[in-house]
Amino acid sequence: MRIDLTDVLSQDGNTQEESVTLDLTHFRRGRGEHYKLTERSPVQVSIRHEKDQVLTIKGQCRVSLQMACARCLTPVRKDLELTFEHQVDVLHPGEDEDELEMSLCIQDGKMLDVDQLVHNEILINLPIRVLCKEDCKGICPVCGQNLNEGACSCDQGQADLRTAAFQEIFSKFKEV
Ligand SMILES: [Zn+2]
Ligand SMILES: [Zn+2]
Repeated sequence: MRIDLTDVLSQDGNTQEESVTLDLTHFRRGRGEHYKLTERSPVQVSIRHEKDQVLTIKGQCRVSLQMACARCLTPVRKDLELTFEHQVDVLHPGEDEDELEMSLCIQDGKMLDVDQLVHNEILINLPIRVLCKEDCKGICPVCGQNLNEGACSCDQGQADLRTAAFQEIFSKFKEV
């Protein structure tokens, strides 16, 4: 969902408070990483026009993503509490990376894309990988057995086969 900034930008010192529903249903990162947002709270956004089209944008929301254990691929729910504060010069964004990212969330100089903003916040806050539990034993690279559920009877010496089987399972999972 987008917020129209026309009013708040019309005069220095103006403020605007919004509770916005997210349309965002999925999060993407890098090479084919793709996670579903299973839950999302409304985004509380507070905007202040400091002066000369410079805005301070604060907000918070909660989202839950469905990730997968990095060792055994079991679904893992990851909850994130996002709080953010950015300053952006709407007309002349500076070189600062944070400000540039923020300026890309403002379309036509007046529409704040809250979905894109929250997507950026997830990117900053999401861990690279999650585990279903600290001591997850992973899956057998030969037969795919989840070793948390019990040992298998594979010959652990078949190094080449192991890698191949694991990658096959992993690529199948990623296509889902
Ligand atoms: Zn696991
Ligand atoms: Zn096995």
